Amino acid sequence: MGVGACILGYADDDIDKAVKKVIDDGSMCTLNCPEEIELAKMLVSIHPWSGMARFARTGGEACAVAVRIARAHTKKSKIAFCGYHGWHDWYLASNLGNSSNLDGQLLPGLEPSGVPRELKGTALPFNYNRLDELEKIAAENKDNLGVIIMEPQRGNAPAKGFLEGVRQIASRTGAVLIFDEVTSGFRVNYGGIHLTYGVEPDIAVFGKALGNGFPISAVIGRKEIMDSAQTSFISSTFWTERIGFVAAVETLKKMKRLDVQKDLVRYGEMINDGWRTTAKKHNINIEISGIAPLTHISFKDGNTLEVQTLYSQEMLKRGYLLGAAVYTTYSYSKEIIEGFIKDSDEVFALIRKALDSGDVKEHLEGGVIHAGFKRLT
Ligand code: PMP
Repeated sequence: MGVGACILGYADDDIDKAVKKVIDDGSMCTLNCPEEIELAKMLVSIHPWSGMARFARTGGEACAVAVRIARAHTKKSKIAFCGYHGWHDWYLASNLGNSSNLDGQLLPGLEPSGVPRELKGTALPFNYNRLDELEKIAAENKDNLGVIIMEPQRGNAPAKGFLEGVRQIASRTGAVLIFDEVTSGFRVNYGGIHLTYGVEPDIAVFGKALGNGFPISAVIGRKEIMDSAQTSFISSTFWTERIGFVAAVETLKKMKRLDVQKDLVRYGEMINDGWRTTAKKHNINIEISGIAPLTHISFKDGNTLEVQTLYSQEMLKRGYLLGAAVYTTYSYSKEIIEGFIKDSDEVFALIRKALDSGDVKEHLEGGVIHAGFKRLT
């Protein structure tokens, strides 16, 4: 589903109609468009702890804006982070190793070649649900921890007190707490997932689901913190371009009108139930993780990547573009999911046979998929 962007489905008629009108009217101007203000008001009213918004076009870009504002506000450079936040220097700096090679990098798969060595030690990772690791970073960087940025939830639910604990550490140390909701936002509820946990950050970042596939991302934050942007330079020609704003305003309206998130969760749970029942039937050991609208399957028998490749290969033959994760979309239906499970049932039977043969690789028609990068979840 467009790396999780097409929350209403591909080529949604309502969103596309609004966007086409903007193209006809002229989509680019030196001044801000009215929909930018409308979108800012919508996001701030959904998240009453916030008071201001700024916009960009991609998730990683918005995270970089958020981090810049946070550092400008605290005037401290060190960042504690958990989860994935894009490709920019501030983040990949965490993978600059002690020696010139990349052995032991923290996020395997994210190569920091081209990132200035001088940034080494500026972005410090902690694992999800490991408050002790964040405490250690805070203790070791007493006077210089300016930012804590994390995905409020990606895989497992937060342990009791974890998010509250992070909030406390941020408040105690004076670090700006950023919740990166680029992926988690608008999937389980109408807004950031943090609203469901009742823990408020200082800044939140949205992307993916916001524009139903049209590029738009948002940074919202407490007014006094967002104001610090004025002390820095953060600007781009195309940030007044209108398409993303119009798409986002229409997407938010439609999500709200149709209670889209309820279906996203329901469809995810149906897929999970189907996977579990089918795996049990074929005596295949699987693990399901993630939030229901972004559910992950992993195979625990044999070589995980080989089995996953076989699943993808055989599902592709049946018409599904499938990795280890499924982003649910409002365009799914009970019938589509039942069909998916029926086809998975056929493929799980093949997987069982392949596992029994002792050589899953022999059943593959191409190479084995690459391991994804680790997200500190
Ligand atoms: N933050 C999170 C939590 C993400 O999941 C992603 C994208 N997967 C990003 C940031 C980066 O967003 P983009 O790919 O739009 O730059």
